[in-house]
This record gives sequence, C-alpha cells and structure tokens, in this order.
Amino acid sequence: MLKQILHPQTCADCRQCCLFDCYDVWNTPVIVPELRMKIQKLLPDAEFLSAGTESYRFKIHPDGDSFACPLLHPETGCLLGEEKPFDCQIFPFRMMHLHDSTVIAISPLCDALTEYSLKFLLDFVKTELAEKLFLYAEQHPDVVHVYDPLYPVLLWKPLKF
Ligand code: SF4
Repeated sequence: MLKQILHPQTCADCRQCCLFDCYDVWNTPVIVPELRMKIQKLLPDAEFLSAGTESYRFKIHPDGDSFACPLLHPETGCLLGEEKPFDCQIFPFRMMHLHDSTVIAISPLCDALTEYSLKFLLDFVKTELAEKLFLYAEQHPDVVHVYDPLYPVLLWKPLKF
C-alpha cells in the first residue's frame, strides 16, 4: 500500500515496526478474526487477547522490556507476507480517535519518512490513502487507537452521529 514512499527493502532492513516495548503494547497489530484463523495455523501456540468488539492482539510474555511480534521471522521477515494486519500495512500511519474525530496520524518511530515534508505526506495521504483508510476504520473500528500526542495528525474526519 505504501510502496510509493517506502521501498520494501528499506522496511526489510529496519523492522522497527515489528518491535515493541512494555509501553507500546497498544501498538501491536490489531488482528481481525479471519486473520486470527490463519495465524493459528502458522503459530499453533499463539495466545490472543480481545482488542475491542471483534478483534484480537497477541498475548505477549516478554522476556525483558522489549519484544518482537511473534510473526517476525529473524531471516525472512513477517510470516504473513502480503497479508499483514491493517495496522502493519499502513505503518507508519495510524488511525486514531481524537475528540470527536477519526484521524490519520504518523508514527514518530519511522526514520524513513523523515526525508519527506509534511506537505508531501499530506498530499500523498489525501490522494492515495485517505478514502481507503477511513472506510476500513469505519468498518473495523477496533483499528482506531486512542490518540497518542506523540503522533502528528495529518488528516481528520468527524465521527457520524
Ligand atoms: S504482523 Fe508482521 S508486519 Fe505486523 S508487526 Fe507482526 S511481523 Fe511485523
């Protein structure tokens, strides 16, 4: 989805978005039910927690302060290939809930995006992503995370009442 701005090799060399610490468990990917079935075949011992009304996230038992996503293979990368969870497909963008709006925000963790201006990213999101992202978020509200003030907001859409 983001190949126009992030080369796959850049992401393969980094993998920062697949590593977490105890403060950003909320940032681990939200897994929809169909994907959970597929993951259970790949990782029969995986445990899950509820992540909202219809979704899950991994139940993690970290050895230390930080941990990798259970789907991250040290050599080949994500075991899901092109079928990654929505959160991973759109990283470093994040859908968040701020006041009465759903917003598209940017993770501060992605160094590769720093080469682009905010204006460039805003134009890219508006023309290439916004419609798809807001529609998916409307259909799967569990992917809309509580707003984190460290994430600059690019675009917002008021909630419908
Ligand atoms: S699901 Fe794949 S891309 Fe997403 S955090 Fe896990 S290993 Fe990384």
